[in-house]
Amino acid sequence: EYQQNGTSDSSQTWPNMAHFWMPFTANKQFKANPRLLVSAQGMYYTDIEGNKILDATAGLWCCNAGHGRQEISEAVSKQISQLDFAPSFQMGHPLAFELADKLCQLSPDGLEKVFFTNSGSESVDTALKMALCYHRANGQATRTRFIGRELGYHGVGFGGISVGGIGNNRKTFSQQLLQGVDHLPHTLDIANNAFSHGLPPHGLDKAEVLEQLITLHGAENIAAVIVEPMSGSAGVILPADGYLKRLREITHKHGILLIFDEVITGFGRLGAAFASERWQVTPDMITTAKAINNGAIPMGAVFVSNTIHDTCMHGPDELIEFFHGYTYSGHPVAAASALATLSIYENEQLFDRAKGLELYFEQAVHSLKGLPNVIDIRNTGLVAGIQLAPSDKGVGKRGYAIFDHCFRQGALVRATADIIALSPPLIVEKSQIDDMVNHISDAINAVG
Ligand code: PLP
Repeated sequence: EYQQNGTSDSSQTWPNMAHFWMPFTANKQFKANPRLLVSAQGMYYTDIEGNKILDATAGLWCCNAGHGRQEISEAVSKQISQLDFAPSFQMGHPLAFELADKLCQLSPDGLEKVFFTNSGSESVDTALKMALCYHRANGQATRTRFIGRELGYHGVGFGGISVGGIGNNRKTFSQQLLQGVDHLPHTLDIANNAFSHGLPPHGLDKAEVLEQLITLHGAENIAAVIVEPMSGSAGVILPADGYLKRLREITHKHGILLIFDEVITGFGRLGAAFASERWQVTPDMITTAKAINNGAIPMGAVFVSNTIHDTCMHGPDELIEFFHGYTYSGHPVAAASALATLSIYENEQLFDRAKGLELYFEQAVHSLKGLPNVIDIRNTGLVAGIQLAPSDKGVGKRGYAIFDHCFRQGALVRATADIIALSPPLIVEKSQIDDMVNHISDAINAVG
């Protein structure tokens, strides 16, 4: 049913792979030649055959504090024996409140309310619903349209794929997407910006399309604009310098909410708590997940402006203000893991550490310029994208071959079509950055 490679670690039993329908995976290809991880510590995974794999992706943009953190596993184990679960509707437990309090010490001033979810997709759908809830409570119920951006990724809920702009995630479902959604143009411009270091110089004008969409529909019909400050999933696509600030000016002017989807950029990835802090633009909501608790337990959070929150809190005391929530919102074990994670970030100053490593990382990844088929390299914070020309076998074939080659040689990178993305844990050492770059260079040369 599947093929086993190399020398098998006899202590590991290979599972029957027939029944798990894997997400965002070419199931047949994977099961014919699996990549199975069985443990992780620090910067390394170990696969089922006992090979050490350098983690150049923090799992899936999640494990910013590195793997196997004792503080997190102890907090989880203590919490699960003390209070495994508490109902989340009309009931509470102290840790969720404590966590919200701590999170708001990191969030921008004025965004000091938190709604808990279990994933990035749920955070996005929550934020979109909150935008509608707010405008209605504010007496502007006609504001219902959303504006996303081409190549944006906002998870896989119907809300998220509607505002998202990745064709493959939408096509099969296109007849059932949300009504009333437009998309800004994406900000990838290789012709003008190839091999920029940090934010690219060209493309500020793409923010002006927002004014055109507002003219087309009327500001009074538009609820919110949602963008990733940096598009991660589509392959590390950066906005031009000043672009986010311009979106903020336009949305402010027209009473439209601005949502930053920081599921990837939150919690230190860019050398600051949030992209919002790094680039000094404060939206009305920030959606998060992933590194909020180092990926230990499913959890997400939406940071909401005090204004949105307070406006929604109208009506009699016994009224439920927002008919929305999840069984596991603020789950005690997830909350415990998040509190432990935030302590690690603080004690080890990991966001500053990421900032301190940024230049080294930038120079290391840009050293790949000149290798065969490398057409662009983009970076910010501890994120980089290395874009290759598609091979004549088809789009994505070269990217996948590089990803698979790196894995078989001992490094986990991420491939989106023909873009290789790097986002190492923030504990990464310079020598490990060198290792990652060497792995990619070897793979690019080997794959051709
Ligand atoms: N939003 C962004 C910006 C993301 O990068 C992701 C996941 O990568 C999501 C939302 C969806 O998160 P999840 O997979 O936890 O639902």
